[in-house]
Amino acid sequence: MKRQAIVAANWKMNGSFGLVTEMSQGLADLGLSNDVSIVVCPSSPFLAALTDAFEQEKACEHISVGAQNVSEFEQGAYTGEISVSMLQACKVQYVIVGHSERRSLFKETSTQVAHKVKTALDAGLVPILCIGESEAERTAEQTETVLASQLQPVIDEVGIERFSHIVVAYEPVWAIGTGKTASPEIAQQTHEFIRKFLANASEDIAAKTPILYGGSVNAKNCQDLFAQPDIDGGLIGGASLKVEEFKTICSAAK
Ligand code: PGA
Repeated sequence: MKRQAIVAANWKMNGSFGLVTEMSQGLADLGLSNDVSIVVCPSSPFLAALTDAFEQEKACEHISVGAQNVSEFEQGAYTGEISVSMLQACKVQYVIVGHSERRSLFKETSTQVAHKVKTALDAGLVPILCIGESEAERTAEQTETVLASQLQPVIDEVGIERFSHIVVAYEPVWAIGTGKTASPEIAQQTHEFIRKFLANASEDIAAKTPILYGGSVNAKNCQDLFAQPDIDGGLIGGASLKVEEFKTICSAAK
């Protein structure tokens, strides 16, 4: 079954208003419209400017904006947090949840991640749920156990049916920002495992859920990764800050 291809840019704590303009102008002449769903996730101060910029460029109407995180709380005394209604006010459509940097550096647990997924879904946002094992876990042959332990709390929290509004991103921690990409074969094997895991709960949902690969994707390796049957696109960090390279990656996903 053919799933919608998605390429998402994760700017992390990089970018500027200058990049907002450069990216919207650059993507305007890409002309991919419905072939590939493009999502750009800048830091929160740039969200509103990016949605405005895409709205102003007629050719960018189909491109979505995503946030990199959302609070699990609705509102109140949570200094520094950003609520889902604030994201809605910026016309954000997607939100990255459970990125490995949030899990490791900011100690987000899989239970919190599951709450965040629910918060996002309840508000009509599409969560991009990140999962992935560390190098030590892969070496210890723990990859499948780790991925299962990251997926199961979300299934328990929201139910498998709601995965029809979730995008999964498999990002092996050892490949993020390291230049060490998973080979297309290893990535495919792991994506296949993720799809089978979801299929244990619902075959129909598993067949429809987009699973993106992330971790040192660039203009050179994207084609081979995207050619794999269970890889439906990518979550792109470093290479998404270079407009021309990001455009090449988007084109490779169609
Ligand atoms: P990278 O990051 O492409 O720079 O490896 C990917 C990510 O962390 O989403």
